[in-house]
Amino acid sequence: MAAPRAYLDWNATTPVHPAAKAAVVVALELLGNPSSIHAEGRAARALLEQARADVAALVGGEAENVVFTSGATEAANALFRAGVSGCCGKDIAGGLRPMVSAIEHAAVIAAAGPEGAVIAVDGDGIVDAEALKAMLAVGGPALVAIQLANNETGVVQRIRSLADIIHAAGGALIVDAVQGPGKMPVDIAALGADAVFLSAHKFGGPKGIGAIIFRDSRTRLAEALLKGGGQERGQRGGTENLSGIAGMGAAARVTHEAREVPQKMSQLRDEFESRLNRLAPDAAIVSQGAPRLPNTTCFAIPGLRAEQALIAFDLDGIAVSSGSACSSGKVKASHVLEAMGQPGWVKAGAIRVSIGPTTTMDELERCLASLARQIERQKKNIAAA
Ligand code: PLP
Repeated sequence: MAAPRAYLDWNATTPVHPAAKAAVVVALELLGNPSSIHAEGRAARALLEQARADVAALVGGEAENVVFTSGATEAANALFRAGVSGCCGKDIAGGLRPMVSAIEHAAVIAAAGPEGAVIAVDGDGIVDAEALKAMLAVGGPALVAIQLANNETGVVQRIRSLADIIHAAGGALIVDAVQGPGKMPVDIAALGADAVFLSAHKFGGPKGIGAIIFRDSRTRLAEALLKGGGQERGQRGGTENLSGIAGMGAAARVTHEAREVPQKMSQLRDEFESRLNRLAPDAAIVSQGAPRLPNTTCFAIPGLRAEQALIAFDLDGIAVSSGSACSSGKVKASHVLEAMGQPGWVKAGAIRVSIGPTTTMDELERCLASLARQIERQKKNIAAA
């Protein structure tokens, strides 16, 4: 009998939580359109508003400040393309120049557009606060996107102090908090962010649904990116994806309640890393000394190429990711590792293991056993050459 697969790619997407699945089914069985005023419509509206409250609670925000989107990609596009108005009590934005850190997700960099100025990071992938200050000192206030935690390395940013710098220069901060829920606390006020955005499938919800949460009720999208029937208080047209929203709300509720999970994950991850060190003392563990998510390890082993390793892992029943992106048949080095100035062999060999609340040591041991076989094969190949 084939061994069960070990899914160690939770930063890419997570299994749908049973509570989220149940909420999706309930929503699918509701007949009404949330905009209709009859009883059927009101029932659908009640479900929508419950989910809005649950998503707001996940980030310590207010329900009225939530705008549902199709995911983080749409959220980033709406924030940069439509602009933000009424921020920090002043009507500053629309017109704010876009700025992004060099390690933002590709969706955020693309949303900022070619005019988006790029803030450098240090060798650990931490945003360079001095570089940010210098950039803000010339050219006026900016709409700045800085992620809470990186999907490839797990590195966590010092958002609060960056928020203070941005606000002192009259700008606004939007935080891609996609990798936060379930792994670390996300509190919009404590972060000092003007807006955060989330994607449900990263914390047990369905794919294709996400949300922007503004800190202040006076802040909103300057206009709708998707113009339509005035849904989401005029900020996102189109009949709401009620089943997706209900699933996201349930996942948010479950995630909010499961506070002890991150500690369990960090113990497993640390054990994985110490065994990895024993197996391959020459392995590089990216940003091991920096503040990181409790579930993420990004490592490289000299001579082991990521694209070959991924295939070998997959054949052994293990799902992991690489730090390199494959587009139109070409594997290109990760822009994140590039911005961090990682050496060529790390960029070519970076493998990401990301775990979740149900991951077991047995799964991680199977991953290490597969890696041990790959290292052996590599040694044999070198000896035979
Ligand atoms: N931001 C981060 C940090 C991510 O990890 C992802 C997904 O990988 C996204 C944004 C984009 O999310 P989605 O594809 O769900 O829109």
